[in-house]
Amino acid sequence: MGHRDPTALAVMRGVKAEGGWAVVCTEQVEVHPISEMTPLVEMRLWDDADIPAAVCVAELIHRHGALAGCELGHNGMSVSNFYSREVPVGPRCLPISAVTSAVDPVQARRMDKDDIRTVRRWHPAAALRARTAGFDLVYVNSGLLQCITDQFLSRLLNDRIDDYGGSLENRVRLLREMIEDMKNAVGDRCAVPVRLSTADLTTGLSFDRAEVEDLIGLIADLPDLFDFHLAGWEYDSRTSRFADEGHGEEFLKGPKQLTSKPVVAVGRYTSPDAMVRIVRQGLVDLVGAARPLIADPFLPRKVEEGRLDDVRECIGCSICVSGDYTMSPIRCTQNPSMGEELRRGWHPERIRPKTSGARVLVVGAGPAGLECARALGQRGYPVVLAETSDVLGGRVVREAALPGLGAWIRVRDHRVLQIDKMPNIELYRARRLDAAEVQEVGAAHVVIATGTRWRRDGIGRRHFTPISVQGTPVLTPDDLMDGSRPSGRRIVLFDDDHYYIGGVLAELLVKEGHEVDLVTTASEPSTWTRNTMEQGFIQARLLEMGVTLRTHPSLERVEQDMATLRCVFTGCEERVPADALVLVTARIPDDDLAHDLRVRQADWAAAGLHSVTAIADALAPATIAHAVYEGRRYAEEFDDGPVPTLDRPLRRELPALSPMP
Ligand code: ADP
Ligand code: SF4
Repeated sequence: MGHRDPTALAVMRGVKAEGGWAVVCTEQVEVHPISEMTPLVEMRLWDDADIPAAVCVAELIHRHGALAGCELGHNGMSVSNFYSREVPVGPRCLPISAVTSAVDPVQARRMDKDDIRTVRRWHPAAALRARTAGFDLVYVNSGLLQCITDQFLSRLLNDRIDDYGGSLENRVRLLREMIEDMKNAVGDRCAVPVRLSTADLTTGLSFDRAEVEDLIGLIADLPDLFDFHLAGWEYDSRTSRFADEGHGEEFLKGPKQLTSKPVVAVGRYTSPDAMVRIVRQGLVDLVGAARPLIADPFLPRKVEEGRLDDVRECIGCSICVSGDYTMSPIRCTQNPSMGEELRRGWHPERIRPKTSGARVLVVGAGPAGLECARALGQRGYPVVLAETSDVLGGRVVREAALPGLGAWIRVRDHRVLQIDKMPNIELYRARRLDAAEVQEVGAAHVVIATGTRWRRDGIGRRHFTPISVQGTPVLTPDDLMDGSRPSGRRIVLFDDDHYYIGGVLAELLVKEGHEVDLVTTASEPSTWTRNTMEQGFIQARLLEMGVTLRTHPSLERVEQDMATLRCVFTGCEERVPADALVLVTARIPDDDLAHDLRVRQADWAAAGLHSVTAIADALAPATIAHAVYEGRRYAEEFDDGPVPTLDRPLRRELPALSPMP
């Protein structure tokens, strides 16, 4: 939310502190306009005008007894400076490699000694502003190869022949100087930690293990705390599809022994057991968390109170990261209150009590229905939750059974566990309700959370009318998730969805012995997963598995086991054999029940029924994160009156106007 939504940011950080974390840190904070991260929306301490926003953050963190950490960083050759239009700087004149785009037509210029002196001045100046704002820890952020000090450390990016290049001692010089500058500036009152990469997993060539150890040895006693992670960000923050909890642990073994200063590290440690283990094994003194904290800001309090069952474990989907890439306020699949603390007033643990005794029927126990029932139950309403299947969880159960998505089942498990504790929630399992049965339940309000089905006709982004298919079997993602399999060997999978499901199904089919042609109009498979930093991993996996990637054509028609593909640019056609088709196109809301109930609206009064509301996928298909959010939203806004529809105000923060010229 950064500088665009500063109050929302502060309130969100305050909720983390309330959750019991010892230290709550900001995101990376820009020290100067020559290192601004547009289009990412980060906090800024460019000049004194940014101090008031920083004061709010520190104050709200302090209000709950936590220490406030400010992660100052200069991103050197990893920014395009599209807002400030300044020329980026770095150890070497090379094309920039920004977080959001490695191909911006911008090069950084090589810094001379004067530049280095200037950049050195910016850090302590920003640190003083952070101290004025009230922060207790002021970081030198050197990690991920995104920060200028890491770029000086990198053997690849630093080709200098002056005393900032060549030997490790020289390449570490800027980092050493910055730590010293910061200690001199704010060390009287603030701790100065350094955030450092323990490995370069992007190329492996910037520094090796021995060099990292030498580096820590060289600065061992300078910072007050070492904070370790991996370079680059897509490796450090891999999703559960590609890395297990604690995936960076092998790079943690060793560094702590090289310093007497305390060590903290992240690694998507989502379970308290794993957190305790890495402390006991002496890998760290403090456990760091980003995603586990986003999913459950109250994790420490729950551990402290022995409520381990209540911890809402991160599923490792990185929808949170997509907020950075889409320049939208952060969101989370597991924690729908994330990013909504101010503008909607939601809290990860609390919700306002009921305002009536109205009984609510929630139909469908997918992520939306489960969250809706859970939150209504928490408010104290009498709730009936009905589900066709005897297994709760809807799409999450089906998708979590696919390759790599097992951790997603936590979306269901957490909610079912909470629902089981609430006597005011009655569960109808294995009950597919029709309109008459809904009315017999006698609920005043009905929530239709019945989900969605994938289309079988190919209509979606590319085609607005059905794709002509003759003589070739067609399967949808639902068919595959329900256990159906194509009988032939050669499968054409048309991925018109562009998120994860097409790639995951290609994996599934190849694992089961099929040959898959993945057809996408995009220039790469699963292109939206760039926003979750997974696209490169997906592409590598599909290529390694032997999936044939056909990028840029659309699937046009299929006749007698031959699929015709057409290039979206040239219109050129090619034909590929297809024993079966898998169509991953659009989805259709499963809203028959809502429709049937509306048709019977004349009977509602007699049945005591006041409202019928379709939510989430049953209204308009989207992500699991959106389904959870929609379920929560209904429960948050529900009162025993008219149910809000489209006409709801959205609280926002307005920029301060400059004086008119
Ligand atoms: P969402 O993502 O919106 O939560 P899902 O597709 O995951 O949607 O879940 C919808 C759930 O609703 C499924 O588990 C499905 O079995 C259930 N369902 C659909 N229709 C009915 C019905 N008429 N009665 C009870 N449950 C239903
Ligand atoms: Fe974890 Fe996904 Fe939430 Fe991010 S969005 S914190 S990865 S559950």
